[in-house]
Parts: sequence; C-alpha cells; structure tokens
Amino acid sequence: MTQDTRAIPPSTQDSKSARLERHHQEIKDCVKCPLGATRTRFVFGTGSPEARILLIGEAPGFHEDQQGIPFVGAAGNLLNKILENVGLQRSEIYIANVLKCRPPGNRSPLRLEVETCRPYLVKQIEIIDPQVIGTMGNPATELFVPNFKGITKSRGKVYTWGRWTVFPIYHPAAALYRNELLKDLVEDFRKIRSLVDAPRASAPRFEQAPLF
Ligand code: URA
Repeated sequence: MTQDTRAIPPSTQDSKSARLERHHQEIKDCVKCPLGATRTRFVFGTGSPEARILLIGEAPGFHEDQQGIPFVGAAGNLLNKILENVGLQRSEIYIANVLKCRPPGNRSPLRLEVETCRPYLVKQIEIIDPQVIGTMGNPATELFVPNFKGITKSRGKVYTWGRWTVFPIYHPAAALYRNELLKDLVEDFRKIRSLVDAPRASAPRFEQAPLF
C-alpha cells in the first residue's frame, strides 16, 4: 500500500541525505558560468549529511577536478592530519567549496563565478543545517563576514550568519607554504570542536552578518 503523503510538506518528507542527493543531481551538469566547459568533474561536496560541522574551502584544484571529491590533494592531506589531531573524522563532517568547478590553473575565483555558484552552497547549508560553519580562507570567509578585511583579521572569531555560527580559519593550503600558520590552524580546529559541543544559542556572538 502506498502512503498518502499529501498533507506532509515535501521538505519534511525526505531525509537530509535524500535532499542533498536531489540537490546534487539538479546542479551536477551546471554550465551557468564558463567553468562548466573547462571542468573535468563537478565537485559537489562530501561527508555526512547529518554533520554538525560544515567546512567550506575555495574551489577544486587539479586532484579534486579529476576525482570529483573536495580536498584530496596536498591541502586535503594536511586537512586530514589536522582533523585526526583534534579528534575529528572526515566521515562525521561535511566538506564543500565556494566553487563546484575548478578554475583553470587554480586561479582565484572570479566574482561572476562566486555569484553564480553561491546559491548552490546556500542550499547545501540549509539542507545540512550544521551547528558550525568553518570557512577556510578568504573566498569562503568573505561570503559570511561583514566588512571582511582578510582572513588574518577574522580567524578565530565567532560570527553569525542567519541562524548559523560561522568560524573563519586559515585555508590548509596556506599552512603548506607558511608553516608558522599551522599552530593557529590546529588551535582553530579545536575551537570548532568545542563550538559544536556548546548549545547553539549560547555560542558567543561577535557580529551579525547580513544574509546575502
Ligand atoms: N582547496 C580548496 O579550497 N578546495 C579543495 O577542494 C581543494 C583544495
């Protein structure tokens, strides 16, 4: 017998996993910006749809573009080590990027690309509904922090964006080139862990960022 679901709003019928997968299927062939023509693979994101921590990076690099999975190259290896060090597993968090497609030569994302891809990320946030969003590096952080003056000024502070707690941290790739950033990066990951353990409403708030 089929269940009568007419009275249940569509958003509550489905698990986060199903909604995320549907979102993926809806956008995976995107050609709204020129990166759609140059990518090898669309890199949607990976991890637990039930994650309490959502990490957001910049854009796929060479290896991510080949494999369709975020953070599988050198920066990903470092990220894995840091996660292990602070007692987090990749499978319990979710990792996505500002851009879903690799910019040629790993150049920085263009404004048009960010604007085009942003709604895809926002929908991921709404579906996963994490307790903490860790923004890694400049392009991810400037989407959420008002009057953004660079990651060095924002990192380690707690912001709110809509009903989400946002915690900016250095991008792991930066620590590959500047070893002295590693200590702060690890410390910030520990802080992210402690933020998910804090009750949502009582996390300290420094600034209220406007929604887009
Ligand atoms: N850097 C990013 O920002 N994202 C990736 O997926 C890989 C490297």
